[in-house]
Amino acid sequence: ATPTSIMVGTGRAAELGVLFRKGEALQTLRDVRVVALDKTGTLTKGRPELTDLEPASEFEYDEVLALVASVETRSEHPIAEAIVAAAKARNLILASPTTFEATPGYGVSARVGEHDVEVGADRFMTKLGHDVSAFAAKAAELGALGRSPLYAAIDGKLAAVIAVADPIKDTTPEAIRALHNLGLKVAMITGDNQATADAVARTLGIDEVVGEVLPGGKVDALHRLRAGGRKVAFVGDGINDAPALAEADVGLAIGTGTDVAIESADVVLMSGDLRGVVNAIALSKATIRNIQ
Ligand code: ADP
Ligand code: MG
Repeated sequence: ATPTSIMVGTGRAAELGVLFRKGEALQTLRDVRVVALDKTGTLTKGRPELTDLEPASEFEYDEVLALVASVETRSEHPIAEAIVAAAKARNLILASPTTFEATPGYGVSARVGEHDVEVGADRFMTKLGHDVSAFAAKAAELGALGRSPLYAAIDGKLAAVIAVADPIKDTTPEAIRALHNLGLKVAMITGDNQATADAVARTLGIDEVVGEVLPGGKVDALHRLRAGGRKVAFVGDGINDAPALAEADVGLAIGTGTDVAIESADVVLMSGDLRGVVNAIALSKATIRNIQ
C-alpha cells in the first residue's frame, strides 16, 4: 500500500469515528479471519443490574443484600455498582467495612460490623472452602438465562446465590451479522461464568466462546483462537484487555473504555458502537483493493 492510499483510508475512517493509531493496522485488518470480543462493556453495556438474590434458609433477603452491598461500596467492579444500587433502591442502610480485600477475577471480602462477608464467583467460594452445591441447580438456571451468578458467604456460611445481568448493546446484533457477512468468525473472551457466556453467545450467534478467563488469561485465549495461523483482531475496553489488545494482530479499543486499553490498541473506536469494527474492516478491504 502506498503512503497516500493509507492516508486517504485512515482519513475516511476518522470521518466514521475510527482512529487508526498505527497505519499498518489498515493493511493487517484485511487479512483478519477471527474477530474476538470481550463481553462486559464491549458486547454489553457494562452496566449490570441485580436480577436475583435467593437467600439460604437461615438468611433473610434484606439482611444479605445490606451486608453484601456494604462490602461492595468499596469495590469499583460494575457488579458492585449493581448491588449497591439495588440496596439503595430498597432504602437499606449500608455500613462502612472495617477491612476490605479484593481478589481480581474472584471476588471481594470484608468485615462489616460483627460479620465476615465474602462475595464472588463460584471459584472464589471454592477457594475459600465453601460448598456451593446447594445452589448449583439455581446457578445453572440463572446462567442459562444469560445472567451471571455469584455467591455470598456470611461468617463462613453460604448465604445466597445472587445474579446480575448486563444488557447487550442495541447495536451489537447488527454488528455481529455484518462481521459474518464479511466472512469472519466471531469469538468472545470473558471472565464470566461459562454457562452465562454460552447463553449470551447463543443469543448473538457467536461462533466460539472462551469463558472463565482469569485476569491475565486473555492473551492465552487469544493464542488458542490463533490456532492454524488465523489472524485475530481483538476488541476490548478494560484494563484486563490491555495485554490482549497489544498481542492481537490488530487490537481495537472502545474509546469510552479505560486509558490503558486505548494506549495498547492499534485502532480506537470513538463510540461504543461495534459497527465501528465492521467499518474499519470494510474500509481496510476497500483501501487495499484500490491500490493493488
Ligand atoms: P468479568 O467482569 O469479565 O466477569 P472479572 O475478572 O472482573 O471479569 O471478574 C470475574 C468474576 O469474579 C466476576 O464475574 C464475579 O463473579 C467475580 N467478582 C469480581 N469482582 C467482584 C465483586 N466486586 N463483587 C462480586 N463478584 C466479583
Ligand atoms: Mg470489558
